[in-house]
Formats: sequence, structure tokens, C-alpha cells
Amino acid sequence: MSLEDCVFCQVLAKKLPSKMEYEDDEVAVFWDINPQAPTHLLIVPKKHIPNVSSFTEEDSYLLCKMFQVARKIAKKLHLEEKGFRLVVNEGKDSGQSIFHVHVHLLSGRRLMWPPG
Ligand code: C5P
Repeated sequence: MSLEDCVFCQVLAKKLPSKMEYEDDEVAVFWDINPQAPTHLLIVPKKHIPNVSSFTEEDSYLLCKMFQVARKIAKKLHLEEKGFRLVVNEGKDSGQSIFHVHVHLLSGRRLMWPPG
């Protein structure tokens, strides 16, 4: 897949605007443009991986790193006390609309369970 075909690759390449919260060589965190909660961030690997099913064994550290980054962002934004939710949509029926894997970090309101 080329850069032009992936919205998140374009965001990561700064070809599309975003409100970036955190960035290192491997992972970026930016605010969702259509927030579903007062705090709604996306944790995204810089490597183009379409979804969880596409992760290889050698990518596994990235999955772990995404959750470590989520933990650090939650701490920085003082979300731990009230809580937060980490969500990964996988495939069309789950609601995945961008096929570059990402973890949603949602917080700031009472979240329902089960999700709709
Ligand atoms: O899990 P799903 O693939 O549906 O999530 C994609 C998310 O990316 C949506 O919440 C959407 O609002 C967000 N998005 C964004 N910036 C873009 C395009 C989509 O934050 N430029």
C-alpha cells in the first residue's frame, strides 16, 4: 500500500493535519478528529500494519509498546483515577474504518458496556 492510500500514513508523514500528543521513532499518538469521549486519542505505529491480524512475530514488541505508550499518556493526562478504555477495532464488522492498526484511548465520561 502506498502512502497516498493510507490516511494514517499521511498523518504520520505530516501530509494531513493532526493534533499530535506524542511521537517517537516507532509510535505516534494524536487526538481523534471525531472524538467519542472528552478524551479520545489514537495510538498508532509508524510502520504500516493494517490490523492486528497482520502483526508478525517480529512486530509483537510494537503491540506491547503501543500499550506502554497508552499507559504513559494516560498518566500524563491524569486519566488513571477515573479510568480509561483501550479499544482496537479489527475488521469491518467491528467498525474499523482506517486499515492502519491503532488503539483508541477513550476517557472523560462513563463508558457503556457492552459496547454497541
Ligand atoms: O477504529 P476505526 O478505524 O474506525 O478508527 C478510525 C478513527 O480515526 C476514527 O475514530 C476517526 O475519527 C479517526 N480519524 C482521525 N483522523 C483522520 C481520519 C480518521 O482521527 N484524519
